[in-house]
Amino acid sequence: MINIVIFGPPGSGKGTHSIKLAEKYQLFHLSTGDIFRYEINNKTPLGIEAKNYIDKGNLVPDDLVIKVLLSTLEKQKNAKGFIFDGFPRTIIQAQKLDEELNKKGIPINIVISLEVNDAEIITRLVKRGLDSGRSDDNETIIKQRLEIYKNQTAPLLDYYTKQNKLINIDGVGMIDNIFTNICNIIDDNF
Ligand code: ADP
Repeated sequence: MINIVIFGPPGSGKGTHSIKLAEKYQLFHLSTGDIFRYEINNKTPLGIEAKNYIDKGNLVPDDLVIKVLLSTLEKQKNAKGFIFDGFPRTIIQAQKLDEELNKKGIPINIVISLEVNDAEIITRLVKRGLDSGRSDDNETIIKQRLEIYKNQTAPLLDYYTKQNKLINIDGVGMIDNIFTNICNIIDDNF
């Protein structure tokens, strides 16, 4: 059993590397962003509520996100391990995740932090918005998401450093090279 958090600003490549890691290490890929987009597309009450926050570049409130976490952990009881992508994004979420995983005796093993500078992030996300039509990938909202990342999410770097779990990886370069660096870290530690 191995539980990985993949951490980084919006557009740092969390989703891309999570998909590859889930396949290579047979982990369940838990992306709260993907779950919210699925709910939004299906116009569920959760999706309708989450959309108000996501379209403005704000975080979905912790209580809604935690509900999603708990129901997914419950549904995936038999998973061999998890890759948490885009979660946790606040200290409250991180504390709740620790509490739930510790209860089950399956704590987070490692937090991979993808480092990407702001200029590169804006370029990547504007391009993604043009390609995918994602409503939150336009320049004004991207800047808001970056601001929120710095204020509410980046403090988790300190939270996980104190737990001795944080590993920094350069998130700029060829995807395959970055992925190899991530896998080397995992293989060296487990
Ligand atoms: P990105 O990493 O590119 O911002 P995500 O798909 O992870 O993309 O998230 C998209 C949006 O979904 C976020 O800007 C936020 O509004 C919402 N969201 C996703 N995960 C969380 C979370 N853990 N807590 C609060 N909001 C979240």
